[in-house]
Amino acid sequence: MTATTDPNDPRLTHGPDPADGPYREQAEAYLVLSEDERAKGFVRPVRGSYWHTTCGRVTTMGRVIAETYARDPSFYGGTYCAHCGHHRPVGEHGEFHWVDPAHPERQSPTMDPKVGT
Ligand SMILES: [Zn+2]
Repeated sequence: MTATTDPNDPRLTHGPDPADGPYREQAEAYLVLSEDERAKGFVRPVRGSYWHTTCGRVTTMGRVIAETYARDPSFYGGTYCAHCGHHRPVGEHGEFHWVDPAHPERQSPTMDPKVGT
């Protein structure tokens, strides 16, 4: 999997948003914010892993995608669960919570913020 800052990159055959349609393959490339945009500052901590409420398993993302979330938490409409094998929604009503690096085993729906918020 790679990251691209070009919205017209032909590898973006599927967007990260479930509204783009149902599919079960991980996208070949993800759209990310440019380095210049990410350098403007993060509004959330950079966190690299999230857990899925449905299966309780953890998925880890690349650094550039993590920084894109930290710069713009609502950039993505959905994300991939490596264990369920499909994309599901993120955000206030989404299905994923960040793994707290200080408490990686906790998996608390009330204490771990939702991905995309
Ligand atoms: Zn899952």
